[in-house]
Amino acid sequence: MNVLVVGGAGYIGSHCTRQIIAAGHHPVVLDNLSSGHREAVAIGTPFYHGDLGDQALVRQVLRREKIDIVMHFAAFIEVAESVAMPIRYYKNNVVKTLALLETMMEEDVRKFIFSSTAAVYGMPETMPITEGVKKAPINPYGQTKLDCENILSALAVAHGLGFAVFRYFNACGAATDGAIGEDHAPETHLIPNVIRSALGLAPVIKVFGTDYPTPDGTCLRDYIHVDDLSRAHIAAFDRIGTPGTQLHFNLGTGHPHSVMEIIGAVEKLSSKKVPVEFAPRRAGDPPELCADATCARTALGWKPLFTSIESIIETAWRWHSAHPSGYATR
Ligand code: UDP
Repeated sequence: MNVLVVGGAGYIGSHCTRQIIAAGHHPVVLDNLSSGHREAVAIGTPFYHGDLGDQALVRQVLRREKIDIVMHFAAFIEVAESVAMPIRYYKNNVVKTLALLETMMEEDVRKFIFSSTAAVYGMPETMPITEGVKKAPINPYGQTKLDCENILSALAVAHGLGFAVFRYFNACGAATDGAIGEDHAPETHLIPNVIRSALGLAPVIKVFGTDYPTPDGTCLRDYIHVDDLSRAHIAAFDRIGTPGTQLHFNLGTGHPHSVMEIIGAVEKLSSKKVPVEFAPRRAGDPPELCADATCARTALGWKPLFTSIESIIETAWRWHSAHPSGYATR
């Protein structure tokens, strides 16, 4: 398959690109490098520097590279920023996705894999979360992802688009060979921030909220290795060929860990004490998010290969230790 990876220079997109190559397919990357890194794109992969909303460019790439499937990772992902700047989020995450899909329909490319999020569920009361749980996003970020999901369903009905939507829980970790990893600016995610504190690159890790109704009072999240996420996407390639196919999958391990457990795991792995500061709750954080990923397991024959949080953190630790300032290019 010739696979266009939109956002292939970003964290998840770059890991997915390498897994596409490992699976024997041919990725092509389109990225505007607004937050991605050119160095993260696997060597030898055709790279187009441009925007997913640029219909002339996308049309040219679809034709020239004879694209069979489009995967879309090029979204803004910061919840707090989405609350402060909703227009920016709707424009990038919804309007530009619509432009991408319109070009695909015009060029008769009708297979699509979409990067969605557990944020579409908002604050669900039942745990673990199955795909059928009510979608009730509580911020513009989650809403933009749900809007895209709904657009995809309409296109499946109207134009025979075949798609798979993957709702990620907490993507983390880095490539096992240490070549690529996580580099967001600013970094808001827990695991990289704990590691940075352990390495002395940040003065302290702030723990947001210690009074949640969880065993140790800190939030529980379902952390899944980015390569495991990527493999699920590739397993969906031959499931979306029938026109009108609509697939939705949660991706997680089903084993939640608390913020304090993550800090403990990093301390154990690094043999370093992580300086901790207890801080108030972060707005919009549900106490627990845990995936029921049975659908992905049964329909795709997929399962996570990183089954322990220690093995996931080890890959992240290796990346951050070797790249304390992240990628050389910003
Ligand atoms: N968190 C924290 N300190 C940090 C970053 C995150 O205590 O510096 C907490 C956050 O409140 C949440 C969990 O760690 O409970 C995971 O947050 P992250 O931003 O990594 O992912 P999210 O679950 O928000 O997608």
